[in-house]
Amino acid sequence: MKISVVIPSYNEESNVPLLASQLKETLLPLCDFEIIFVDDGSTDNTLQQLKELNDQDKRFRFVSFSRNFGHQHALRCGMDYAQGDCVISMDADLQHPVELVPEMISKWKEGYDVVYTQRIDEARITFFKKLTSGLFYRLMNWLSDVELEEGTADFRLMDKRATNVIRNAHEPNLFIRGFVSWMGFKQYKLTYKAAPRHSGKSKYSIRKMIGFALNGITSFSIKPLRFSIIAGLLISLLAFAYSMYAIVLYLFYPEKAVAGWASVLVSVLFMGGIQLLFLGVIGEYLGKLFLQSKNRPHYIVQACSSNE
Ligand code: UDP
Ligand code: MG
Repeated sequence: MKISVVIPSYNEESNVPLLASQLKETLLPLCDFEIIFVDDGSTDNTLQQLKELNDQDKRFRFVSFSRNFGHQHALRCGMDYAQGDCVISMDADLQHPVELVPEMISKWKEGYDVVYTQRIDEARITFFKKLTSGLFYRLMNWLSDVELEEGTADFRLMDKRATNVIRNAHEPNLFIRGFVSWMGFKQYKLTYKAAPRHSGKSKYSIRKMIGFALNGITSFSIKPLRFSIIAGLLISLLAFAYSMYAIVLYLFYPEKAVAGWASVLVSVLFMGGIQLLFLGVIGEYLGKLFLQSKNRPHYIVQACSSNE
């Protein structure tokens, strides 16, 4: 029995060595293991450190991307390279406690296919992160058809069966969190207290967070498209009612029927805004189809450990 741990790392030079030693210490008494670091186009010394780790111990493997492809692609690549009977994915910044790993493994041995985790004790997370993540989960659950629990990040164990499903998914922008919830299987939830980032800054800029959220929502639902129908219907009804009112006013109270430029302007602007909004929504889905049709590789590997 072998366990694979997959760790996406983007400019994490100050975290990688510590995490590697903690993981090794935890896993050594438990079972055979491999730890795969996926260097997501780091510009610091991350890759150098991964090479050194691999020189010391071949169980530390690495894959390095030709540029920054993003967290989700790095996770996916790690799963492609993993050779273990199950895959544990976790962040490189030590926010995901290594102490939880033995418990995850024991639940897997009990027969669960997926052991996912939920972050509690929000006091140790920054206010901004709490706000944006709370908003995201609420919006995601309201708009999409998969149920996501708040605070369930990409810290989970997945059995070989489950990782094979992800390996075979063809979506170019796979939203792994939603996909795992959609996939089913026997799942078990563990809770943990997130630690503050060990070192360095968050690698999720606001731009990346918005992209992540939009991708999550549009990957699992066509509800936003349906809203345009409902909004269109409502606005036409309003416009109809208003035109009735205008006709009545014109016929019975002509002295009051002053041509109001304000109402015209407001309705034109309103309609313009709504149309642009939903054009954007349609564009988002069209873009997804476009990307899928190109069938490009999900990531490009420029280097990997010698034992691949
Ligand atoms: N990450 C990555 N590529 C990116 C952004 C992030 O591989 O483009 C990795 C990062 O190194 C870390 C994990 O994804 O291991 C989570 O990122 P981070 O801790 O910055 O996000 P936060 O915890 O602030 O949500
Ligand atoms: Mg983090």
